[in-house]
Amino acid sequence: MKEVAVSRSNFDDWMVPLYAPAPFILERGEGSRLWDQTGKEYVDFAGGIAVNALGHAHPVAIKALTEQAHKLWHLGNGYTNEPVLRLAKQLIDHTFADKVFFCNSGAEANEAALKLARKIGLMSQTPNKNQIVAFNNAFHGRTLFTVTAGGQPKYSQDFAPLPQEIYHVPFNDLAAAKAAITDQTCAVIIEPIQGEGGVMPADVEFLKGLREACDAHGALLIFDEVQTGVGRTGALYAYMNSGVIPDILTTAKSLGGGFPIGAMLTINKHAAHFVVGDHGTTYGGNALACAVAGTVFEFINTPDVLDGVKQRHQHFVEGLQSINAKYQVFKTVRGAGLLLGGVLNDQYAGQAKKIVSLAAEQGILILVAGTDVLRFAPSLIIPFEDIDEGLRRLERAIGRLTFEQSA
Ligand SMILES: *Cc1c(COP(=O)(O)O)cnc(C)c1O
Repeated sequence: MKEVAVSRSNFDDWMVPLYAPAPFILERGEGSRLWDQTGKEYVDFAGGIAVNALGHAHPVAIKALTEQAHKLWHLGNGYTNEPVLRLAKQLIDHTFADKVFFCNSGAEANEAALKLARKIGLMSQTPNKNQIVAFNNAFHGRTLFTVTAGGQPKYSQDFAPLPQEIYHVPFNDLAAAKAAITDQTCAVIIEPIQGEGGVMPADVEFLKGLREACDAHGALLIFDEVQTGVGRTGALYAYMNSGVIPDILTTAKSLGGGFPIGAMLTINKHAAHFVVGDHGTTYGGNALACAVAGTVFEFINTPDVLDGVKQRHQHFVEGLQSINAKYQVFKTVRGAGLLLGGVLNDQYAGQAKKIVSLAAEQGILILVAGTDVLRFAPSLIIPFEDIDEGLRRLERAIGRLTFEQSA
């Protein structure tokens, strides 16, 4: 295939206008550094939105990908394969789960979870056990079911009529959640840390209270760990930090280290309500995806890497606080492991996107979570020097912002 020269303006020419990407095109990455078409270098604190857990072009992931590429890519679910079974065994051995369903994204993993919950509700002794309780500001993906479960009506209202019997209550408000959870509830779905919703951690007591309320009413507790899973918080999965065990867990993002894959994990009792033909997806369990994910999972699931996330957390937070001591941009810094949010002070409210642009000019890639929170989700093995260099560049960007604001 002949390589056509492309530029950022082609995006607006050719792409359905659903995204507004940065004004440059990144061409190559290595570890936690990236280079654009002009050769300009960036430090990566965005991590492909909490996906590139081992950074870019990690040799171990490249080896897994290329070895599998020579063997077998795809079969479809009329045939199983070795990488999918090995990955299932890894997930089962290291979590609460007995059974796994593979798909290709976080939304699909949540779609499977919600459909399973509805089916279990249907098969229960309780009529109309079909209600789903979710939380304000939650994010669960963009299929019609998952976007309706999400707690931001602006993402779903244009696509009405929406799936029914989904109720939202304020996050971390146990009294409100308890009032909403009844015998009609088939599931409660929650992110242990709301990612897109502002890097907002759930209180441990809140999660415990939800577990009790679910048990009292025979409802399933679904943890959406699409963003918090696979080492992101310094535990393999965030539920392990709270001691609260869900009935269903969904995982994606970091799971493939950059190769698209998602999974729904559950226990035998629940999995048995799905029978052949109830649900599925062509690419689920794709051999290439599972070979890469298995290798990424094995690499991350070691005391070395997981403790390293906690050490990097400490270092990163201290760096953000020292920037804050100079510029007073953050109200607070929150999150866990390498999922961090800097909540902007009122003076800078609404400027998160602007700071992302200023940061890119200085050679540092960061994320937002809403309009008022800067989000950081770098590689779980980002070198400490890259954290320091990235924070120096971020400090320059924030210096620019405060200068412009006061000028
Ligand atoms: C990103 C995300 C999703 C959606 O994942 P996709 O792969 O974009 O479908 C769902 N839940 C959470 C918590 C997420 O962060």
